[in-house]
Amino acid sequence: AATATVEIKPDPVSTVDGRAIEVAANVGTIEELTPAVERGADGIGLFRTEFLFLDRETPPTEDEQYETYRAALEAFPDSRVIVRTLDVGGDKPISYLDLPDEENPFLGARGIRLSLEENTALFEAQLRALLRAAADGAGDLGVMFPMVTTVAELDRVLELVASVDNDLEREDVTHAVPELGVMVETPAAVFCAHELAERVEFLSIGTNDLTQYVMAASRGTETVTDLHDPLYPAVLRAIDRTVREGHRSDAWVGVCGEMAGEPELMTLLVGLGVDELSMSAVTIPSVKAAVAGIDSEAARALARAVLTAETRAAIRDRLQLG
Ligand code: PEP
Ligand code: MG
Repeated sequence: AATATVEIKPDPVSTVDGRAIEVAANVGTIEELTPAVERGADGIGLFRTEFLFLDRETPPTEDEQYETYRAALEAFPDSRVIVRTLDVGGDKPISYLDLPDEENPFLGARGIRLSLEENTALFEAQLRALLRAAADGAGDLGVMFPMVTTVAELDRVLELVASVDNDLEREDVTHAVPELGVMVETPAAVFCAHELAERVEFLSIGTNDLTQYVMAASRGTETVTDLHDPLYPAVLRAIDRTVREGHRSDAWVGVCGEMAGEPELMTLLVGLGVDELSMSAVTIPSVKAAVAGIDSEAARALARAVLTAETRAAIRDRLQLG
């Protein structure tokens, strides 16, 4: 079918009744920045930083990281770039880290757990590079933390940010504290979304992991792929709860999992109250086109209908997904 003809909209889009929805890109390397700009991204909603750390013998230096984050900001001088701190675990070996050999890495030391428990120095170097990048020149930096499960973890992260801020101040190094956010990817984070959102500016729902943990069906395990689907009632109710709790704390709420890049799910996501969507650059034009055709009131009605549905089949029916 002819899908190559969707118009590229370089400016931010709004729904028919004027609600602005940010449509940003997920990137995992520097090379993906230009294609994101070319597809009309309103910024970067998820800059995965794993590429800086994987496939090498020593960790990247603070300066090397700083240059990379600056490059991302310079690609988007008028919009926001959200960098996610290192998100690895036992399933992604790193030669210079002594990662535990775990029977079930997806339920083990990964994401922020690893940054806080095993590798504070590595985490602090990343924070230093990020606070320095936030200060200089063009661009608006956001930083978010992966796999948060408890409020105490976030408090510890915020203490480390404050301590890095103090160090840089004392050393007279130009820096600024960026906008901070939490990725909501575990059921625990959903149930504590209000308290987490009270402490940061934004929440970003990682529906890939959230679906895995809500449905107890791991990503990429063939026998359970059918269960790894965000259109199950449990996952949609988790998203709904996160958006409402985030807004109650005056935080904005985005979605940065694969789900955010599916044009046929836009009315539902807008109806659930999501403020920002971040996806592979390739789907940005069709998502922007979909958002521009949405009426918020109708979207809210659809979301309400979907949230009362009892089965995935009923939800797919309401979304006319056949
Ligand atoms: C997610 O879990 O939905 C997400 C965006 O992060 P990643 O896919 O990198 O785990
Ligand atoms: Mg994730």
